[in-house]
Amino acid sequence: MYFIANWKMFGSTNSINTINKVISLTKLSKFRNTKIVYCPPYTILEKFVKKTKKTKIKIGAQNCHYDKNFGAYTGSINAMMIKQVGAKFIILGHSENRENGDTDHIINLKIKSSLNENLKVIFCFGEKLSERRQNKTYEVIKKQIKIGLKNVKRLNNIIFAYEPVWSIGTGKILKNTDLEIQISKIKSYIKKNFKIKNPKILYGGSVNPKNIRSFSKIKLLGGFLIGGASQNPKKFIDIIKKSIN
Ligand code: PEP
Repeated sequence: MYFIANWKMFGSTNSINTINKVISLTKLSKFRNTKIVYCPPYTILEKFVKKTKKTKIKIGAQNCHYDKNFGAYTGSINAMMIKQVGAKFIILGHSENRENGDTDHIINLKIKSSLNENLKVIFCFGEKLSERRQNKTYEVIKKQIKIGLKNVKRLNNIIFAYEPVWSIGTGKILKNTDLEIQISKIKSYIKKNFKIKNPKILYGGSVNPKNIRSFSKIKLLGGFLIGGASQNPKKFIDIIKKSIN
């Protein structure tokens, strides 16, 4: 099971010690197969890489520029630079970045340049509330995946994250039965259209210690992408413990 901590634009150089207890948790045999990935802001990526070097925790970035080369893109960072500081993962297609201008095509380019650098891609997609209300959820998701993965090779280095936009940071969640149906449809679509035998699909959207037991009953899920609750080590540990038990 994957537990991806998306810290968004939170975290300073002082935040590093908040992960000490999570590091201790990963040393327990019970959590042997638990894969924890911290995605802090760029400014503390390297610090997190160094801190977790001798642990099973991996570090990822939250976005990148699509150009694989250096270039005149003020304020941007590309996959090569992220790889250079030792990160192994990258979140791409997050709705907050789609909102800031990332089209499916741009996300496709970012996925390619990240895979080219051997980063594992956490590819996010999901419908907005208005699309859900118009019964367009599946249609929207299929388009996001189809364009996002156009001509992409090394598909096995992609982890999929279904994140309904209306659920991110809102406390609103899908009913378990609906989520299960959704995940099953997404999995079938990916298997049928791309050469991936057993795609890993995570869920993200207001996961917290109270709702995790229910989510973790969905056996088709390969883990969770956690925003707000992952910044609090107590809540993050609680989520991990409850989903394993
Ligand atoms: C996210 O940012 O990907 C996310 C799922 O956030 P939250 O858990 O806060 O809803």
